[in-house]
Amino acid sequence: MKLFKHPQAFLFQGLVLGLALSAVASLVTAKPNIIVIFADDMGYGDMSNNGHPTIRTPHLDKMTAEGQKWTSFYSASPVCTPSRAALLTGRYAVRSGMESAVYGVLFPESTGGMPATEITLPEMLKKAGYATGMVGKWHLGHLPEFLPTRHGFDSWYGIPYSNDMNLDRPRVTELNGGQLGEWHTGVHWDDPKSEYWQVPLMEGETILEHAPDQTQLTKSYTEKAIDFIESHKKQPFFLYLAHSMPHVPLFRSEEYERISTAGLYGDVIEEIDGSVGQILASLRELGIAENTLVVFTSDNGPWLQFKTQGGIAGPLRGGKFDTYEGGMREPGIFWWPGTVQPAIIHDIGCTLDFMATFAALAGVTPPEAAVDSCDLTDTLLKGEGSPRKELFYYKSTHIEALRIGSHKVHFEPKSDSAEPVVTACFNLDHDPGENYDLRETNPSLLPQFVQRYQQHRATLEPVEDQLAKR
Ligand code: MG
Repeated sequence: MKLFKHPQAFLFQGLVLGLALSAVASLVTAKPNIIVIFADDMGYGDMSNNGHPTIRTPHLDKMTAEGQKWTSFYSASPVCTPSRAALLTGRYAVRSGMESAVYGVLFPESTGGMPATEITLPEMLKKAGYATGMVGKWHLGHLPEFLPTRHGFDSWYGIPYSNDMNLDRPRVTELNGGQLGEWHTGVHWDDPKSEYWQVPLMEGETILEHAPDQTQLTKSYTEKAIDFIESHKKQPFFLYLAHSMPHVPLFRSEEYERISTAGLYGDVIEEIDGSVGQILASLRELGIAENTLVVFTSDNGPWLQFKTQGGIAGPLRGGKFDTYEGGMREPGIFWWPGTVQPAIIHDIGCTLDFMATFAALAGVTPPEAAVDSCDLTDTLLKGEGSPRKELFYYKSTHIEALRIGSHKVHFEPKSDSAEPVVTACFNLDHDPGENYDLRETNPSLLPQFVQRYQQHRATLEPVEDQLAKR
């Protein structure tokens, strides 16, 4: 091929090349919209594309087929509050004092919340010119100084803690002939009614009502999310949609009543799936799908004590509260038509990584404090290997397990010893259900885990010192 035979052809080709390069540059430098959809207590196995035999999730399945699914994507804690703190800060919650030994999972009587000194995702993105909105469950402090509007969100509509908190015990007892029952087998679970829980529904810093109709939560969250998208379609925006469902008590709107073969829990997941479908459709209708990254995941694993009112972790062992895989490995889907490389990724990723990843996409430097965050953009955009090679599994302030590559060891629980005792070792690629202990057959694997535990532990500030600074 004679490319540059004539000077005019040379100029023309140069022009075409220049235009092509500037198009690529504008693709890379344009700030994409970012939406994080975060389910509450949804299990790894609760999507049909992760193998659930009776829950239908056609919209999540389509999102998966068009996007990138991670099969080793984790929340940073097996319970709500620290999981959310880690997602918003890019640091294990033990560093912000939000691990449960300090405050516990926050309750209506708690007086604490995420410290103002923490730098959050919306605070970082606001500086990069983003509009920031939150819809849904917060759970990082319900007092005014801890609300989403004090942590970088321009707007918020939702509930400040879990939908099972603020149980109106006298009312429930009265309505049920003097019976209340145990916390997870009480009469209020058999036929839950919104009026049993005095949880506040809030907008900004104002309480709209107590005991809102919980059958409308998923629906109204979806409407508010789409309103936010529509009103910010012309500027980059960050939307954090943290569903209250499928955390018990389970509620769904009339449209989803008894539609799932999987019963009430199935109805609830299928409504969340429908919500995902509506949000992706609205992005397409507004013509901004090609400039929007949407991530779907969950805050922790299924609440197994609630039996059929809780989800399933599929092939994984354990559920909520556990540092077995079922407690922290979650559905992980990234969707951005034309930009995210459709693929199934087996490498490790974590909600901790949103900070560094979104910083790269927004063209800003992540906060220095986000020391536990890895930038996943090369995996998302080019299909390269994940930079995250390890994950610490915290329960409260204790490191209960550590994954490095394909292997994971468990340490003696409730211990902060500098000399941790290894209690089990599994190859998660071969044995995702953590059934076959390798300690005896592969003892040479273990020292590197103890060493990394010790190195990581040395980076933690003692909890007492953190509290003393406030
Ligand atoms: Mg949860």
